[in-house]
Amino acid sequence: MKSKNPTRINLWSRELDDLREKGLYRVMPSIAGPPGRKLLVDGREVLNFSGNNYLGLATHPAVVQAVSRYTQLYGAGSTASRLIAGNTEAHRELESEIAKWKDTESALLFGSGYQANLGIISSLMGSEDLVISDELNHASIIDGCRLSKADVKICCHLDLNQLEDLLRLKGYRRKLLVIESIFSMDGDQAPLAEIGELCTRWGALFMVDEAHATGLFGPQGQGLAAEQSVIPDIQMGTLSKAAGTSGAYVAGSRELIELLVNRARSLLYSTAAPPGVIGGALAALNIIASEEGSMRRKMLKRNVKVFQELLISRLNYPYGGSHIVPILIGDSSRTMKVSRECLEQGIFAQGIRYPTVPESRARLRLTLMSDHLLEDLEKATSVLRDVLAMTAVPDPKRQNIKQAGS
Ligand SMILES: *Cc1c(COP(=O)(O)O)cnc(C)c1O
Repeated sequence: MKSKNPTRINLWSRELDDLREKGLYRVMPSIAGPPGRKLLVDGREVLNFSGNNYLGLATHPAVVQAVSRYTQLYGAGSTASRLIAGNTEAHRELESEIAKWKDTESALLFGSGYQANLGIISSLMGSEDLVISDELNHASIIDGCRLSKADVKICCHLDLNQLEDLLRLKGYRRKLLVIESIFSMDGDQAPLAEIGELCTRWGALFMVDEAHATGLFGPQGQGLAAEQSVIPDIQMGTLSKAAGTSGAYVAGSRELIELLVNRARSLLYSTAAPPGVIGGALAALNIIASEEGSMRRKMLKRNVKVFQELLISRLNYPYGGSHIVPILIGDSSRTMKVSRECLEQGIFAQGIRYPTVPESRARLRLTLMSDHLLEDLEKATSVLRDVLAMTAVPDPKRQNIKQAGS
């Protein structure tokens, strides 16, 4: 027996080399310490502009305590899927809180946002149906569409005319329009009221992914739909971003939830979230809906405004004024170089490349937190200015930087 087969040893090296050549090779940064405004990345203490802990709830004492209290009460794991033996009192309590907060008949938890989008879209839509999806929708939506076997039409980003043309299409059993309320990589907002109207006019179901709006918009942080007084048929959101914990929910009619409980394979064939996570999410939702939640939202808004002004005054870089700040660079290798240089200078601003964003639209993606101090925002913008100036000259795609916020 030969213990070493040379062809097998090199099985993946060509593909890996190919990724390296294209500047698309990825490594996971090593993170240490709790995810506050400061963080240890690859052993270096830096200012954190890369997590989605927008309201600082991942490290909030009430949330952390609730995680340990629920773990004491219910154990470390939930031991089975919801339909077998994992449907604890804690899970049911969180769902009923979410339904009340979202003002829907019912709500259902999923283990993650990825699982939620996969499960929702593939359960509701089939081969006789049409799904219309924005070109910048998250990978979990794309994969949910693929899994559904429905006819999928991709709409140019927020192009309402094209959206209406697609909604007009006939000959399907059912139509679904799915869109993010705040786009995860660009930070811009979908005009949900207009889109909702189009869906009503053309008889399509309206699904909104509020992953980056949950906790941040609406009178009690319910999301952008609540802020715009829109009631989509299917309201999905995550507990893993501003809510600082893990998991996701879908809120809607009782029948919608019933159908998902019967069909969504990412729910049925996956162990229910650990009780500790559920306890943490309950505490986080409590804060989000409270006076403290609105105070944190105000602090984040102020930081967004200050950051916007600093980017204009120091970098002449306009952007839309969101807690997600894309600094467009274009070329993948250069983006990662800029990101590494920022890290060297104490700013963690992760580079985002294809296929997370379209080719030649690589960027730094900075995220703002309510916990950031004025001095953090000043440091980040001065580092960005210096690093971009330093690495700009040889790259013809420099002009892409001007396209931010478009
Ligand atoms: C992060 C994200 C998800 C996935 O949520 P997870 O809980 O991280 O699996 C889904 N949709 C959007 C728009 C996201 O940004």
